[in-house]
Amino acid sequence: MIEIDGSYLEGGGQILRTAIALSALLNRPVKIYNIRKKRKKPGLKKQHIACIKAVKKLCNADVEGLYEGSDEVVFIPKKLSSKSFKIDIGSAGAISLVIQSLLPLSLGINKICEFKIIGGTDVKYAPPIDYTKNITLKILKNFGIKTEITIRRRGFYPEGGGEVIFKMYPSTIKRINLVEHSKVNIVEGISYIQNLPIEIAKRMRKRAVDILNKNSLIPNIKIEESKGISTGAGIVLWNDTIGSSYLGEKGLRAEIVAERAVNNIIKERQTEMALDKYMGDQIIPFLGFGRGKVGVSEITNHTKTNIWVVEKFLDVKFKSEKYGKGWIIYTLE
Ligand code: ATP
Repeated sequence: MIEIDGSYLEGGGQILRTAIALSALLNRPVKIYNIRKKRKKPGLKKQHIACIKAVKKLCNADVEGLYEGSDEVVFIPKKLSSKSFKIDIGSAGAISLVIQSLLPLSLGINKICEFKIIGGTDVKYAPPIDYTKNITLKILKNFGIKTEITIRRRGFYPEGGGEVIFKMYPSTIKRINLVEHSKVNIVEGISYIQNLPIEIAKRMRKRAVDILNKNSLIPNIKIEESKGISTGAGIVLWNDTIGSSYLGEKGLRAEIVAERAVNNIIKERQTEMALDKYMGDQIIPFLGFGRGKVGVSEITNHTKTNIWVVEKFLDVKFKSEKYGKGWIIYTLE
């Protein structure tokens, strides 16, 4: 059995998601201990339980330690099968992170799987669902991973209630070569509100458009208005393979929300690397399977930690070094 110390380096939920997904895909039992030891409230939260339950269902695993607050999980997978079902996180826990734990399984299924996932679409410390759709899935599609997201309803903290349909097709990964940014100068995006005045979304877009224009970038930002059981606002931007976002907060002016997202995408763009710091960690399992190289703006602890987990499961070694204004991560042959 592979044993993984969940307190390693970043010590967060991603260690668990990557480990469970790879365990199911490769049919290798795993024990994760010290789960989320470096977080304020360590142990499993609803979002992590939803991830494990979904993967468990797909590979009919025997699981020990699957309860809120648990600091140790033993996951013994059986044969992976293709199923479709509903996943209710039961909180505003991030739908995108449930998708993160399902994504690698696209390499093992033999029929289309469709999941209706209920939870948070736009919550702190997780990819906004528009980031997953327009950055993560679009990049992975270029390397053979075929998936689709339909956003049916947004869900914010604390009530959640967002609804997303995630479809996964049987996929075969290609070798990855994605080092430098394409220099495309169109910045697309979405400025959204739910249960709030539409003016907020319009003000966020206006500020974003003004700054992008000043920086010789071409904005193409949509406005979205919706009603739901939870309330919130935010902006997500994408410039070919790099993304950036900011969530609205009570007391934070709409213009500031937009400035933070835009300034960040400009900063990422200046490194001239293909991937932003978030995609940098999310691509690692796929780089492990497909092999090859990627360019990232920054090597975060999330990235280093994911490399460490993937090296425990696959016969692969990653190396990273400075490259231009960013970094290159590649697999050794
Ligand atoms: P915890 O750390 O509480 O266990 P977690 O389960 O959210 O929480 P992390 O290990 O922190 O797990 O992983 C968060 C994931 O979300 C990482 O893949 C990170 O790149 C991604 N992420 C966080 N914020 C953003 C963002 N603003 N845009 C895109 N991706 C993000």
